[in-house]
Amino acid sequence: AAGRTVHPDDTIVKVGDVNIGSGTFTVIAGPCSVETREQITMVADSVKKSGAVILRGGAFKPRTSPYAFQGLGKEGLDYLESAKEAVNIPIISEVMNQTQIPLFENVDIIQIGARNMQNFDLLKEVGKLKKPILLKRGLCNTIEEFLMSAEYIMASGNENVILCERGIRTFETATRNTLDLGAVALLKEKTHLPILVDPSHAVGIRSLVPPLAKAALAVGADGIMVEVHNNPAKALCDGAQSLDLDQFDHLMQDIKKRVVLE
Ligand code: PEP
Ligand code: MN
Repeated sequence: AAGRTVHPDDTIVKVGDVNIGSGTFTVIAGPCSVETREQITMVADSVKKSGAVILRGGAFKPRTSPYAFQGLGKEGLDYLESAKEAVNIPIISEVMNQTQIPLFENVDIIQIGARNMQNFDLLKEVGKLKKPILLKRGLCNTIEEFLMSAEYIMASGNENVILCERGIRTFETATRNTLDLGAVALLKEKTHLPILVDPSHAVGIRSLVPPLAKAALAVGADGIMVEVHNNPAKALCDGAQSLDLDQFDHLMQDIKKRVVLE
């Protein structure tokens, strides 16, 4: 179970050499979407040099508009896997439904997106795997509902759950969402599961990503997941919130002054 009362010690989720939730600060970085083999490999190489330990890249994209870029699908996962091999870095990508699960065999962490947080059938299916699952908080879901969704995965047999606060919908429209840092602090009390923050989807504005990334560190998150693109102006998805390679490197220098990275 996810609660601290039954399981007081912090859960450490192992991904290769990375121990998420062990008291270090885990940085996941990469583009919103995998676009080409060259793009994902180049971003992988750069973010790893800057200190990221896991590479993100969406292949199946949950877009608001059916006319927006939907991701490269299986081809995107192939490119992501080739970047994993070329650069030697674990990878994370979002699964959108049960039928896609077999395609994720070589993906190190399966991401359940905000829009699927209460897709209970999908939660049960990923619960049958041994692979780490990163569960993002739904756009309008309470902390209790978030924990219950984690519980679904664990109840099906998979204890390797990582929570991710990615901003919630409020009355405020000046930022894409409202980053609920209070939820991170409360979750650290309520659950032994590791919790990451996604400042990119939370705020939606590039210049505000570094301050929120540092706020995540200060509030006690176990790490962050940040969108980074080689050319944000040309990104096929979420360019406005993506850091370029130099901006990400600067953020990492700043974070490294404050913590021991893993
Ligand atoms: C993502 O991380 O690629 C994503 C789509 O985020 P969210 O599910 O939080 O909107
Ligand atoms: Mn995105």
